[in-house]
Amino acid sequence: MTSEELLKQYNDWKFRLSVYEMALSIIEIDKLTVAPVAGASYRDERTAFLAGEHFSIMTDEASLNVVKELKESAEDPDIRKEAETYYREIMKIVSIPKEDYVAFQRARDASYDAWVAAREADDYSIYEPHLKSMIEWSRKLYRYRDCNLPLYDQMLDDFEPGMNTAAYDRFFESIKEKLLPFIQKVIEAKPIDESFLYESCDTAKQKAWTKQILLPYLRFDKDWGFQNETEHPFTSWTCENDCRTTTRYFENNVTSSVFSTIHETGHAWYEHNISPKYDGTILSTGVSSGMHESQSRFCENYLGRSLPFWQANYRSLQETFPDVFENISLEQFYRAINASKRSLIRTEADELTYPIHILIRYEIEKGLFSGSISTEHLDETWNEIYQKYLGVHADRASDGILQDVHWSDASFGYFPTYALGSAFAAQFFHAMKQQMDVDAALRENRYIDCIYWLKDHIHQYGARYSADEIMVMATGEPFNPNYYLDYLIEKYSRLYSISL
Ligand code: ZN
Repeated sequence: MTSEELLKQYNDWKFRLSVYEMALSIIEIDKLTVAPVAGASYRDERTAFLAGEHFSIMTDEASLNVVKELKESAEDPDIRKEAETYYREIMKIVSIPKEDYVAFQRARDASYDAWVAAREADDYSIYEPHLKSMIEWSRKLYRYRDCNLPLYDQMLDDFEPGMNTAAYDRFFESIKEKLLPFIQKVIEAKPIDESFLYESCDTAKQKAWTKQILLPYLRFDKDWGFQNETEHPFTSWTCENDCRTTTRYFENNVTSSVFSTIHETGHAWYEHNISPKYDGTILSTGVSSGMHESQSRFCENYLGRSLPFWQANYRSLQETFPDVFENISLEQFYRAINASKRSLIRTEADELTYPIHILIRYEIEKGLFSGSISTEHLDETWNEIYQKYLGVHADRASDGILQDVHWSDASFGYFPTYALGSAFAAQFFHAMKQQMDVDAALRENRYIDCIYWLKDHIHQYGARYSADEIMVMATGEPFNPNYYLDYLIEKYSRLYSISL
């Protein structure tokens, strides 16, 4: 085959793949947002068929040879990297029989449906057999890979290439060692009054404020982005100019939707800013889960929970809800949105205790796959570990084991990337502040300048470079968790007047 023919075959194959990926993505967004629950099993059956077709294209032998050839011989380094990345992903699934792959997709959809039902009934026993089935399915599917690494290490590597149990153990050890004693000091310090954040704020007014003030401030543009509502906020996309985010509104927690909006649009900005030269290819996506989460948490916490962000936005919030905020100063508001407390819900947790929520999930996942923890009574195990690290106990399963969607779709190994991403973000924040006046940008309604920095240093590359390479290019040094630990301890010492 001439190199022209080779490239033509390759491009046709990529295009066909991207067609199925777009369809599957839209179907999933629909399922998670507006699709009526009663139609779930009909849809799930057909979605599994489509996923099977995608699998067949992905693992087709002739195309695999083309990818292999290009990964070794393509002159263009972008194409070589692309082909390498496809090859790596194909190798993960190529030995799985198609029937198993399709049956797993069906089981996974059923598991998600059971999780929704279990949450509604507040009953872990509805979900338990499905969780068990997701673990068994994972064991089975990974066995086909014929890889010598321990199973959980393979899972960790899938979400964060290059990471494994040893590296995460070191990371979480430093969190335990430095943050747990510091959190104890914060608990003993004078609490910050945040009670006014839970007063009633009409959700229709919250939605109007988000639409008229917050989304324009964040420059989330409806030409390429759309915000919907869901129980569990998320971001998805089909290409850089079609990014979907969701949020949820609570009458008695006005800032919940604010921060989920900032978080999810942070994910959307990452996808939107990837260079169009990678369109329709495997490089046109964030490089890893940790890197993705670093971008959303950067926007949510490092920018969104800062004083300058609210110097630009607090007055309009006060004017929208005068009954609640009229007599609350900007400083009081800023302290309240950063108040730290031992809480049950990960997505509502403050920045300081957040990594502890992740540490707990990491320990449970490790236990589930080493066999030291069972799905039986996992609701109780969950509470024991929460008690140990955070001193809290969930009376309702929906505030405990049932709060997160991730295990219902077999995303084991995903959670640790949340803490890692928060730590990546601290290092990016440090670098950004050396190069631009972040506070002035936020105060002066130039949030977009921060996004441009992220685009130049991170977003534009998509998956062209590894997370490690991007870290060095953007900050001048390899990942160092001390930026994160120092940032948290410095910020919370100031907030709680703790002398170090
Ligand atoms: Zn996120």
